[in-house]
Amino acid sequence: MSYKALYRIYRPALFEDVVGQDYIVKTLKNAIDQNKIAHAYLFSGPRGTGKTSVAKLLAKAINCTGSGKIPCMQCENCIAANQNVHPDIIELDAASNNGVEEIREIIEKVKYAPIQGKYKVYIIDEVHMLSNSAFNALLKTLEEPPAHVIFILATTDPQKVLPTIISRCQRYHFNKVDVSDISSSLMKILKKEGIAYDLVALELIADLADGGMRDALSILDQCIAYNPSEIKEEFVNSVYGILTTQEKINLLKEIRSSKVKALIEKIKAMEDTGIDIKRLTNDLLNILKETMIYAYEQDENLLKKINQHHAKSLLETFSIDDLLQYIEVLQETSQKYKTAFHPGSYFEIAILKLCGLSKKTQDTKEKGPTKKEKQVEKINEEILLEDKEEVMDDEPEHPEEERNIEPTPQQEVQQDINEPLEDTFLLGLLTYAQKEYRQKEEVLWKKIQEYRLDLNYGKSANLLMDVKIVASGEDYLLVESTMGAIVKTINEHEINVELYQFLKEVLELDKMIYAIDTKRKEALIESFMKHRKQDTLPMCPKITKHECKVCLSKEEKELQELQDIFQDTLEIKGE
Ligand SMILES: [Zn+2]
Repeated sequence: MSYKALYRIYRPALFEDVVGQDYIVKTLKNAIDQNKIAHAYLFSGPRGTGKTSVAKLLAKAINCTGSGKIPCMQCENCIAANQNVHPDIIELDAASNNGVEEIREIIEKVKYAPIQGKYKVYIIDEVHMLSNSAFNALLKTLEEPPAHVIFILATTDPQKVLPTIISRCQRYHFNKVDVSDISSSLMKILKKEGIAYDLVALELIADLADGGMRDALSILDQCIAYNPSEIKEEFVNSVYGILTTQEKINLLKEIRSSKVKALIEKIKAMEDTGIDIKRLTNDLLNILKETMIYAYEQDENLLKKINQHHAKSLLETFSIDDLLQYIEVLQETSQKYKTAFHPGSYFEIAILKLCGLSKKTQDTKEKGPTKKEKQVEKINEEILLEDKEEVMDDEPEHPEEERNIEPTPQQEVQQDINEPLEDTFLLGLLTYAQKEYRQKEEVLWKKIQEYRLDLNYGKSANLLMDVKIVASGEDYLLVESTMGAIVKTINEHEINVELYQFLKEVLELDKMIYAIDTKRKEALIESFMKHRKQDTLPMCPKITKHECKVCLSKEEKELQELQDIFQDTLEIKGE
């Protein structure tokens, strides 16, 4: 019999089997129970976090014709789905199938009714890889999907999905799975397989998998191949070319005592044996961080990567200042890895830098107190940041007066939502924002979650759920998102009208909404500070709200209803 990979054997067959995505599973199960199934879903998140597995489960569940628990696992639909042969569950991998022709073929078939099940479900993996024309073809179908068709799009890179597609989908973000969830799931599997294990080894595997259940299972596969009867920490270490915790601590101590020559040789040897330098740097950072936590709290329960004994032994040679400096240098280095072709040489430089630091502190220790300039610098930076925040929050106390003293020849700024947002306009939004509004609305914002599955408001709710309010004025809201696609969509005229309606009808906020990305927000705050200093902040921007007849607040709606009734009575009386 050929060997079957663990992740194939243990792919979740029921919702209960999904590891670590409780919130998503619960929401989807509720939607199925209430028969509130959307026509398009977008599952985003890092690789191996269960997007495809949940997509397959959802496809199976909505096609299940059994009674009682869903999926029942017994009806012909469940059986076919479990064997991956259901004719109405169509899986596509855009990474390999990115031609427009394939998508066209699918769309041709979309209009035909399902063959065996209730719905035709199209699962498109890595949807961001579709070519532009394929995207457009898909968009057309998403605009008016036949009642029996459901699309489940999965992607590791939602930024690359067209905003117009995103806005037509119900979105779910799959988070990295917790180390504890992964290791307890590995434990269950090993018990079933009858393989012995030690818990530390499983935690190490979970840690190596970095939040991906599939990766964890394939690491476990490799460890089983190495030793089929038992999973132990040292086996995982040798399969994966990593140092033990004690070896890492020894390395830190050697750096502290500036044994340069020995260290250079060691790094070379590590590279030769295939030790992952990026990972090692990250591990060292975690050890230093936990040692610092221990120095402050002396609580062993707060330690995860090291134990009390490790922390104590490091604190014999490291002061808090040392720990801070080491963390800073290593963090800087790990940033550089992102673009590095050869991380080993960056690591070497970092080690030399740290050796230099160790020498310096040893020298100054003899002369007097250690310099704390770095810390002071840090504190200053923090104060400045807070300052920015405060300035942004507070309404200028007497904007009119200030302007009277030194009037600035500026015009009233107006913004057409069809045009890209102008800097002066945004600056005006910041200038006339009020902290109280923002605080109130941040509370209101939590309500949006409830409308995710709403037929009328679901789309707006999904768009607004993850954005943050930057500033709020009398008749406007400025929000930020880290995702360019979301920002673009919010500012799109047609969508913006819908959002305006949503805010008015659901949150009872009669405000225009504008979005910027985080980068632009930062630049904006900087520019705000500059203009504020020079007293050249713009005048209050003119906000033009959308005109839409259907946009009615609760009161207006009631009034309209009353008028309608009144009209009727008038007519009756008139007869
Ligand atoms: Zn069934």
